[in-house]
Amino acid sequence: MIANSGPMSLADYTHICMADNREGYYRRQAIIGGSGDFITAPEISQMFGELIGIWCVAAWRQLGAPASFTLAELGPGRGTLMRDLLRAANVDPAFLQAAELTLVETSPSLREKQRDNLSGRQPAFLERIDDLPDRPVILVANEFLDVIPARQFTRTGKGWQEIGIDVDDAGRLRKTVLPTLLDPDLLPQGAAAEPEGAVFEWAPAREALIERLARHLATHQGVALFIDYGHGRSGFGDTYQAVSRHGFADPLERPGEADLTSHVDFSRLAAVAREQGLFVPEITTQGRFLLALGLLERAGALGRTGDAEARSRLHAAVERLAGDEQMGRLFKVFAIASRQLVLPGFDAGKDA
Ligand code: SAH
Repeated sequence: MIANSGPMSLADYTHICMADNREGYYRRQAIIGGSGDFITAPEISQMFGELIGIWCVAAWRQLGAPASFTLAELGPGRGTLMRDLLRAANVDPAFLQAAELTLVETSPSLREKQRDNLSGRQPAFLERIDDLPDRPVILVANEFLDVIPARQFTRTGKGWQEIGIDVDDAGRLRKTVLPTLLDPDLLPQGAAAEPEGAVFEWAPAREALIERLARHLATHQGVALFIDYGHGRSGFGDTYQAVSRHGFADPLERPGEADLTSHVDFSRLAAVAREQGLFVPEITTQGRFLLALGLLERAGALGRTGDAEARSRLHAAVERLAGDEQMGRLFKVFAIASRQLVLPGFDAGKDA
């Protein structure tokens, strides 16, 4: 495509690498887990999904315990989070009875895995959130927003120009600067002080998703919980990354064979949700969120029935999920709700 019609934006390149029907990354088998390319929080420990399950039950009660609601997950991967969530939600059988399980997943092979992992329940599969049925919804998404492509702009003598992908004379992919300029109104504060070469990332597709979901929540009631790596305040910097076989790779090498993502700008998404009239509690970190939900207590309870080896595995999982130097601080937790609710793990009633 580049040879035929010239350079493309980084976002288009990323989209094609990830979503191409035949050769896109998400068509591949076994991308998540020890033998794949990366490990996610639900794959580290059952405690992650369990705590989120308890959170969902609390959110459902806050919503007035609707007798029928959509329990949805975006990009469920292997279905591990949902499996653990449903098991923990057993504390309130009325919640499970009211829940219509819905998974939003584009990959056929991952749908298969999710079905296997959730045996006993028949999830409905959707391609996109626009197809959510007209009823209240409780939605969770872990490491989903980061896979939606972002555009990148760099400061040049002309303004903030879009970064694109081109091929050199030898046919190798390389970064280039496109003529497209970013409207300065879209830049966060402090842009004037950024030097030439500085990078700004903007993900309109993420904003569009949050806006559509926010509209659905405003109309039909509900809450959504997003956990992902990113920042709570908009800023500058290049966070585009390729991950393959549990290590960082060059995003331009082996397109379609590595996971391409970038950090999520949560403050931007919070603004989008608030524009739709939603309640947005102050963004928190994964570490604070899980500890507030009882991560240590849950680890203690699981450890009591296990041997020394099991206890040391639990200890390592707690550290990995909540430790400042591991996932605890980089990963943020972001919720949006149709009205002000007391949501566990977030500062009570505080609107960001
Ligand atoms: N939440 C899982 C998996 C994260 S990987 C976990 O934490 O382990 C991202 C997931 O999003 C995969 O399941 C992928 O197939 C799915 N996905 C990617 N793009 C998507 C899209 N546009 N719509 C729905 N699902 C998508």
